[in-house]
Amino acid sequence: MNLIERWIRPEVRAISAYHVADASGLIKLDAMENPYTWPEALRAEWAQLIRDADVNRYPDPHARQLTQQLRGTMQIPANAGVLLGNGSDETIQMLALALGGEGRTLLSVEPGFVMYRLIAAFSGLDYVGVELNADDFSLDMEALLEAIDEHQPALLFLAYPNNPTGNLFGLFEVERIIAASPGLVIIDEAYAPFTDASFMPRIGEFDNLVVMRTLSKMGLAGLRLGLLAGPEAWISEIDKTRLPYNINVLTQLSASFALSHISLFDRQTAKIRAARTQLFNELQEIAGILPFESEANFILVRTAQGEAPLLFEGLKQQGILIKILHGSHPLLNDCLRITVGTEAENRALIAALKLITQNPKPNT
Ligand SMILES: *Cc1c(COP(=O)(O)O)cnc(C)c1O
Repeated sequence: MNLIERWIRPEVRAISAYHVADASGLIKLDAMENPYTWPEALRAEWAQLIRDADVNRYPDPHARQLTQQLRGTMQIPANAGVLLGNGSDETIQMLALALGGEGRTLLSVEPGFVMYRLIAAFSGLDYVGVELNADDFSLDMEALLEAIDEHQPALLFLAYPNNPTGNLFGLFEVERIIAASPGLVIIDEAYAPFTDASFMPRIGEFDNLVVMRTLSKMGLAGLRLGLLAGPEAWISEIDKTRLPYNINVLTQLSASFALSHISLFDRQTAKIRAARTQLFNELQEIAGILPFESEANFILVRTAQGEAPLLFEGLKQQGILIKILHGSHPLLNDCLRITVGTEAENRALIAALKLITQNPKPNT
């Protein structure tokens, strides 16, 4: 054990590893996945494609065909550079490697996406998390501008919409932050399929703006594919930290195939957006549960004081897994996060919640 303490960097030892709950046998509403699968005919066509893949060869190191398709699907400006990652998580790591280092700072907001802080920690960046406003999770502009001035962050991440709160920050406020930042600002648009707002068309308008996207929330979480788009001069430098062949043969083939059937995913995400509205309305009807408006494929809810763990456990006993956020940040006290599922899954969730909240608590 002394060897571990001697050689594993203290900042790595201090991290508690990213925890993924076991979901076997449960309705899975914890991880912002698209609940829909593919029609049989499409699966057969895909299987044929995979059958013919030559996995003895390395993949195209620049994934040229896939990148071209992504440019079209995501309407990436023609003059922007693009780099692909094994999930957008990997592009966060590339950014940390390219802009990090002794005495440099990564700044984001809290509560926010946990990977920013985790990657900052293990890549040796100082992390600064500025608290959002407590009432509506909007940006605390005074605190943010002050922190930017004080810490001069090399990297500033904003998830747009934000995870785990689901809200979209004010457009004018985000513009002000980009203008006030000395370093690179990354607008993380993981939830782009579920909102109409985007900074993608604004690439090039600011000299320190890049946009991050992923295919995970759209319906391809299992393929692990994300991207960073921005001014070519930034992207070509950051690309130097990318390991060769980071997007494997099967992912390139499968994502490319999926994007050539993008209308299927558009229909699925439209269904999820409609179901989000219905789920929000139904959650609002349940006594002791306050849902927050969401522009993503999940809904944050606040329970009555002290009830979040009971609801979480009660749902689990009824076969439904959601995410408990209570205890992860003071602003998330009594909070749970529910991913929007299929209509049947959402109905099961609402029925289970009603049962739990209406039944008198068992004596303990
Ligand atoms: C899910 C999520 C990601 C990570 O996506 P992957 O591409 O699956 O790594 C990035 N940012 C935010 C805000 C997310 O919620």
